[in-house]
Amino acid sequence: FMTQHFIVIGNPIAHSKSPEIHTLFAAQAGIDIRYQRQYCPDDAASFAAVVEAFFHGGGVGANVTVPFKQVAYACCQSRGGLSEHAKVAGAVNTLLLNKALLNSGTPIAEALYGDNTDGQGLVNHITSLGWPLDGARVAIIGAGGAARGAILPLIQSGIGTLTIANRTVSKATDLVSELSAASTSISQQHITTCTTNELSGQFDIIINATSIGLSGETLPLNDALNTRYAYDMMYGRTLPFLEHFSARGAQTSDGYGMLIGQAALSFERWTGHSIDVVQDTKALNAK
Ligand code: NDP
Repeated sequence: FMTQHFIVIGNPIAHSKSPEIHTLFAAQAGIDIRYQRQYCPDDAASFAAVVEAFFHGGGVGANVTVPFKQVAYACCQSRGGLSEHAKVAGAVNTLLLNKALLNSGTPIAEALYGDNTDGQGLVNHITSLGWPLDGARVAIIGAGGAARGAILPLIQSGIGTLTIANRTVSKATDLVSELSAASTSISQQHITTCTTNELSGQFDIIINATSIGLSGETLPLNDALNTRYAYDMMYGRTLPFLEHFSARGAQTSDGYGMLIGQAALSFERWTGHSIDVVQDTKALNAK
């Protein structure tokens, strides 16, 4: 019945909703946890030092957010290992200790293991909305870290076709080549790439995985682009991307459920407790 300790490491970190989310999960699971925000200077050595101190102090698990997901990946790669999803995403959002290594006498700092639950959190949220993924014609706009992490989980969910559109189209084609070399599930999926304003035709699901909402600019969307469902990974503000497709009759969702979805998977990974996400999403939205 000891209190289990968790942190989320980021810079900035004050805005993070993770402590609130995980505290609700713990109440649902009936376990005692302490989950804190951990600021870290923006360099790899500081990150490694923060993580080591945390796990040496008996910490159970850590979440990693902007700008450390790639740094965390590199840390785990040279220590306790990476899950398939972390490998393909090239990024880690969930840290834990590799128990098998610890049991065989590996020091704590060398047993650091990384997973990535962001993409599966997205797929679980889309599924909970009742949007069919099986056989779906899916388009992702964006070719950065968030898009990259979503590709394998979407393909594993059984989607039909995948198109990746990006302002800089070469980043989308490079991403597809790189991921196809890293995963046979991805190399076996036919993936089309184009620029954002070239993306046109009828889709089932379009996902905005760009960071455009932060700048106040809007995406140059083609008039001949239509979708049944539109998903924006962003949340917490008015999203012109969703307004555009809502006006054309699509169902829409922001990315708050993705945030809760990735948190639930991290929590399950650390504690072994499954979480009813819908119950806690209602509680969080009510606040
Ligand atoms: P990156 O910086 O890695 O990628 C940014 C992407 O946005 C690139 O494809 C870039 O295109 C595109 N972009 C940026 N500005 C513009 C613009 N003005 N016009 C067109 N395209 C633009 O960011 P991430 O992938 O890490 O994050 C993307 C978003 O996803 C963020 O807003 C983040 O908040 C959200 N996110 C949400 C999560 C959740 O749990 N809900 C989890 C993770 C991320 P180009 O290549 O041409 O530069």
